[in-house]
Amino acid sequence: MTAGLEEIELYIGGGPVPADGGRNYESIDPYTGHAWARVADGSAADVDRAVRSARAALGGPWGAMTAPERGKLLDRLAGLIERDAELLGEWETRDSGKLLREMSGQVRALPEWYRYFGGLADKVQGEVIPTGKPNFLVYTQHEPVGVVAAITPWNSPLLLLTWKLAPALAAGCTVVVKPSDHTPSSTVALARLFTEAGFPPGVVNVVTGWGPETGRALTEHPDVDKIAFTGSNEVGRSVAHAAAERFARVTLELGGKSAQIVFEDADLEAAANGVIAGIFAAAGQTCMAGSRLLVHASVADELVGRVAARAESIVVGDPTDARTEMGPLANERQFAKVLEHFRDARAAGATIVTGGEPIPELGGYFVRPTVLRDLPSDSRALTEEIFGPVLSVVPFETEDEAVRLANGTRFGLAGSVWTRDIHRAHRTASRLRAGSVWINAYRTVAPQVPFGGFGASGIGRESGIGAITDYQETRSVWVELSGETRDPFTLG
Ligand code: NAD
Repeated sequence: MTAGLEEIELYIGGGPVPADGGRNYESIDPYTGHAWARVADGSAADVDRAVRSARAALGGPWGAMTAPERGKLLDRLAGLIERDAELLGEWETRDSGKLLREMSGQVRALPEWYRYFGGLADKVQGEVIPTGKPNFLVYTQHEPVGVVAAITPWNSPLLLLTWKLAPALAAGCTVVVKPSDHTPSSTVALARLFTEAGFPPGVVNVVTGWGPETGRALTEHPDVDKIAFTGSNEVGRSVAHAAAERFARVTLELGGKSAQIVFEDADLEAAANGVIAGIFAAAGQTCMAGSRLLVHASVADELVGRVAARAESIVVGDPTDARTEMGPLANERQFAKVLEHFRDARAAGATIVTGGEPIPELGGYFVRPTVLRDLPSDSRALTEEIFGPVLSVVPFETEDEAVRLANGTRFGLAGSVWTRDIHRAHRTASRLRAGSVWINAYRTVAPQVPFGGFGASGIGRESGIGAITDYQETRSVWVELSGETRDPFTLG
């Protein structure tokens, strides 16, 4: 055991608890390569404890609370996040190696989601439905779906958790969270704030754990009513299977291979900035990374030149330094995967415009911002999610070809259109099979706007008004008005 480490315990029933048998593991700071926290390694027994606690809260004071009361608690929580934003951002960076300024920015944005969904809590209304049956009054009611399992990845732990927690709690559910084994600390720190805000014990529980076992135990738990998952397609598939076994509700936010389409009339400076933000921010470790650049052949050399020049001047290094523009990859597995893609692209005959190498002098898991051209259409760099700072460029000649290339992927998370032609902008956006399309911009999100994927990028949407009803069941109530005895063999 290493001394001087931050201690991260499970959070069950409104307080910290050690894992069953006192098991733990160490969380590594990807910049220093050293352990900085000791984290409880939750077992199936711990998961069971957490689910029981969530179920008890549902049947206790939380279940008895009114929607406006839930809304007030979410608003109070938002204030506490604002107070502790610095610490939460720091812990996200220690765990993930992502830039402190990006993680702090994300944490400072979280209150917007809690306030938006807190405000929505008492605005989900049932309906009185006019039917063709005059002797019936029919109305609907919404009630919480029950105990929710929220499983999150390592790239933006608190933001992606908030997209689940805020609507789930506004809807009246209780939650058991399983953060990524690489980034557990900020989630436990956030859980403490729920208690401080006055949420009853057991409404939000966290089970940390190393490897797939903890998440698997949670998805397979028979008393979990809904699973909200963000992560890779491989794990998403097994989560969906587990949910199907007992017909649990499931939403999946999975990977992407998003295309930025740049037409010949675009503002190339703005487009270059958008392309750089889309693929090199967060070292490309975001689901919405714009990892394919589809550019009109007439401006391809100029745009690629601009992007490559800026890529070469990106300040890579210490994620806690405010001048740094790109940090390391988040873990060893991710680093190895990106290096494998470099080798594969070379073998496929790609032109390495810039990058394509690790940065050994920085130590840790650093790679150079990379731009690739001349890739075969079926190459891995053009078809697979790399989740690293690797841009693959494909020139096109016509609008139809650009749309066909953009849609020529099993994913459908995001995309962009860069042009000054307003007709072409909207026309192209409406042809993209993607859950979010930005026109002359990239990588903007807001609590009011649905986010999620077509095709292999997932099932369902997070954020937006509809997200709250995804955590509720609808009951239709039929009231017989005539009071007469009905024919038992006639429907209705
Ligand atoms: P991952 O799929 O490896 O892990 C995600 C979570 O699932 C982690 O908490 C992990 O511990 C847990 N898990 C692992 N095995 C499990 C199992 N068998 N059963 C249940 N849970 C299990 O993903 P990752 O590597 O942490 O994150 C990167 C991936 O997430 C990328 O593919 C990325 O595109 C995707 N992502 C998607 C979005 C989106 O909104 N669409 C956002 C961010 C990241």
